[in-house]
Amino acid sequence: MIENLLHSMTVQEKAGQLNLMTGSMDVTGSKASEGMEAKVRAGECGGVFNVFTPEATRQLQEIAMKSRLKIPLLFGYDVIHGHRTIFPIPLGLSSSWNTELIQKTAHVAATEAAADGLHWTYSPMVDISHDARWGRVAEGAGEDPWLGSQIARSMVEGYQGKDLSAVDSVAACVKHFALYGAVTAGRDYNTVDMSRRSMEETYFPPYRAAVNAGARTVMTSFNDIDGVPATGNRWLLTDILRNEWGFKGLVVTDYSAIEEMIQHSTTADGEQAAQQALHAGVDMDMVSELFLKYLPDLLATGRVTEEELDHAVRRVLILKRDLGLFRDPFSRSDEARAKKELFSDAHRALALQAARESIVLLKNDGATLPLKKSPGTIALIGPLAASKRDMLGCWAAAGNDNLAASPLDGVLRSLGDGASVLHARGSDVDDSEHVRLGGSFFPQLDPRGSEEMLVEADKIAAKADTIVLVLGESWEMNGEAASRADIRLPDCQRALASRMLATGKKCILVVMSGRPLDLTWESARFPAIVEAWALGTEGGYALADVLFGDFAPVGKLTMSFPRAVGQLPMTYRAKNTGRPANDKIRYTSKYIDVPNEPLYPFGHGLTYGSFEYGAVNVDSPTMQPGGKVTVSAEIKNTSDKAATETLQLYLRDVVSFVTRPLKELRGYQRVTLQPGEEKNVRFAIDDSLLSFPGPDFNPMVEPGEFEAMVGPNSAQVKGVKFNRLK
Ligand code: BGC
Repeated sequence: MIENLLHSMTVQEKAGQLNLMTGSMDVTGSKASEGMEAKVRAGECGGVFNVFTPEATRQLQEIAMKSRLKIPLLFGYDVIHGHRTIFPIPLGLSSSWNTELIQKTAHVAATEAAADGLHWTYSPMVDISHDARWGRVAEGAGEDPWLGSQIARSMVEGYQGKDLSAVDSVAACVKHFALYGAVTAGRDYNTVDMSRRSMEETYFPPYRAAVNAGARTVMTSFNDIDGVPATGNRWLLTDILRNEWGFKGLVVTDYSAIEEMIQHSTTADGEQAAQQALHAGVDMDMVSELFLKYLPDLLATGRVTEEELDHAVRRVLILKRDLGLFRDPFSRSDEARAKKELFSDAHRALALQAARESIVLLKNDGATLPLKKSPGTIALIGPLAASKRDMLGCWAAAGNDNLAASPLDGVLRSLGDGASVLHARGSDVDDSEHVRLGGSFFPQLDPRGSEEMLVEADKIAAKADTIVLVLGESWEMNGEAASRADIRLPDCQRALASRMLATGKKCILVVMSGRPLDLTWESARFPAIVEAWALGTEGGYALADVLFGDFAPVGKLTMSFPRAVGQLPMTYRAKNTGRPANDKIRYTSKYIDVPNEPLYPFGHGLTYGSFEYGAVNVDSPTMQPGGKVTVSAEIKNTSDKAATETLQLYLRDVVSFVTRPLKELRGYQRVTLQPGEEKNVRFAIDDSLLSFPGPDFNPMVEPGEFEAMVGPNSAQVKGVKFNRLK
């Protein structure tokens, strides 16, 4: 059927299938598409994004059904962390370390997206990043390739289900291929320059895991790699992705990325850019419209072959077929399903669970938290305390902020009728001169001015027994095009924090952010700090559950929190170097002004309870090739309540033919222990966990000594050694 269709298509219609246009129900880039309906009717548009709802998609699909060949349109959208029911931002959700839960959220997102007319989500974003300056760390799963790979797989499975043509499945799109998380200096859209070894060890694994999980589409990244833009990079898109990894699906560019090759200055004009992109392995052109414009002529003059063109068109048609669109182009434009599925109670219940599990308790000296529900007065203060929109975070798809629970909503609901809760805004999110005057980020400034807001906060605080400060980033301060060179709290928020601390009252800090912030100053002053990201629709309720102890936190960081922006990029997967840091020896690898260590390490997260880690043992000092050893760790709940902990397994290849990280995550287990309960937690280790890219970058296991380490985070581990035999 596909081949027959392909034969009956004109060259213009073939180019049309490769043309992906943007609608205007959301704006996700700086250029708009024009003349969409006419192009759909003429068979010059293969898919549309930023259009959703059963009505709007049906309307356009009906036009497509009037085109000569009646090829249905593909509808895509950035359903990144939920569609109408919004889950925590991906960096937050990754902190749950709960891949089953993450898979469920992706399935719910797919169910809602598909009930709202969509076939295709531009997710998961699996870019590993070590640089919190980059705003898009909010969209990913953090710094670790191994955990990132597990999460990537879960998301693909959640979106696509077992049957792509089912009315609750959408095609996943792995992005941004590739290495986008390593943009120089954390500045968005910037250059990437990287060794092949870093690609293979650190950055490629999650993309590859998503491809292996059956992801149907891949999106190219904006950056160049070794001087060649990803969108025109044949080595990347064909040699690696298709030939080496065996990817059979569709490659779409990022927003106007073909055209941007002119700015990258690797092509002189649009025609050359189109030729390069198709030749590199791109199938669909997002927004540039250069395929539509130039492919017919490029084919006529022999600069593009019919085979190249047909390959790309075939991939688009196959995806449409597998989504069931030729059978019923309107199957996902169904008002009744939309009514039933969108923002349903069951979906909201999952969003609440996801939000609870994403919260990370960074600090809790003297069991400051949880708070008692009564008696007393709580002052909830800060520019984010009553914000619904900021709870949804960046890339909130079709989420409705009016339906989201702010921290204030949550606290009020938790405390019920008799509650004594006061609220003051206290400061703007950011009122600095640069922010006010510059760029595309213009926070809404409160007309009252900073002094008036501070005075009001003082008054409210004076009446309270406990102050809960909700500070951090508004939703526009992270995500795309939101790089920051200073990742501390903006000055106006710091001023508010100082004023509140000066009251001498019990003061708790809740941070909402889409990136690890530099919380060094806050950490030295607040007894308790809760990282609450942007938690989605039910975020305020989840936060209140944690603050009042109805839910004990379980989250663990998936990205190190630095002490200073100058430490970036940073990762716990650091190497030893020839001069490992030593405080007493000057000429060693360290800073003279801050320690090398992060403020809060990868894997860190406290709960309401405490544990004692005992010895770590291995069942055999040697491991046969192809065999396994079992590492076990003793853990005891030393508190008076049941408590949950995620134990983490790290491995080190002690001597290797290339320098290797001092530790790498290779397993984790979540356990719940009753008061006083002890447990022996076991991790089976086989060759697959010891393997790494060898001299030719194929996986290899080197015989010799390995160290297995177990602990509550990447910094506090106990180790045991074993020998992998030849
Ligand atoms: C972003 C992508 C997104 C696309 C479509 C781009 O600007 O980089 O992540 O999928 O827009 O909205």
